[in-house]
Amino acid sequence: MPPDRPTPDSGSKRAALSRGLDALLPRVPDGTRRLNPPAERARKTPSSASTSRARAAPTEAERAKADAIISRLTPAPAVFESYLGNAAHYRSILVPGDGAVTAKLVPSKIFQGRRYLVIFTTDEWMDSHPLDLDAFAGPRVPFAKGSPPELIFARQRDRRPGYSRLRPILEHEFVHINQMMLGVAAKQPSEITPSSILEWYATTTQMEFEAYLVEYVTWPRLLPEHYTLAGDVERWSFQRAYTQVLEKLWTVFPENVVEELVPRLSHALRDARSANSVDASILECACNMLAEHAAIARRRARSHP
Ligand SMILES: [Zn+2]
Repeated sequence: MPPDRPTPDSGSKRAALSRGLDALLPRVPDGTRRLNPPAERARKTPSSASTSRARAAPTEAERAKADAIISRLTPAPAVFESYLGNAAHYRSILVPGDGAVTAKLVPSKIFQGRRYLVIFTTDEWMDSHPLDLDAFAGPRVPFAKGSPPELIFARQRDRRPGYSRLRPILEHEFVHINQMMLGVAAKQPSEITPSSILEWYATTTQMEFEAYLVEYVTWPRLLPEHYTLAGDVERWSFQRAYTQVLEKLWTVFPENVVEELVPRLSHALRDARSANSVDASILECACNMLAEHAAIARRRARSHP
């Protein structure tokens, strides 16, 4: 059974666009690929690339921001117990097959031992997803009868022998499950209009930024080797978030609608910035590069009809 799409229907043509854009992007630690802004490439000097293996360590401000996100996204006991009861029941009735290998309740390191339901899948099932993913959270795929809880899907087989990325990946997805549980995750637009897409874009970027910041503050060694400066953990987290969602935008919404919205994407990001959101200078840097990234996506879209 192919997985449901994480965003509105992507169709085979837009799936091809995703793979085309993906081929342009550098390989990053979790196996997916991201846009590589020229400004960031310029920072990778030969000396820093070849002789230094240091990674940026989280600053106190970054740790505090991640702690605030974790605190804000930790569900109340009653909310989590309701999820866990549903998750345990769903696990008990799930029969392996149709791509599902096994289901486990995995304890979280970041969320203090709370257990989350993870369905481990075959490579074939995960590869049928339109994006190059190792794991994703929701939407609900009916592997078993009944009403499934918020679900995480992850590859049964790690794609990087000798270097497991599964723990950070799962913790990232636990953040998303909590966002869904608390009702703050981005809603898929029921109607595709410019305003609904812009709102989805800004909210999804914020959701991803929160998950990446928590992930990289906890595991800063996963940053690329040329990210060594104070503040780079937040910078990289936002870059991962916003390029990922930009790629998804061009993948799942009609190209002509996205084309018209490109000049407004920066405004949407700025308008959505909240107290817990990204540092203003990092946001501005990303906004300044956004048109260039959109142009890359547009070129790739046209070269992969
Ligand atoms: Zn994510």
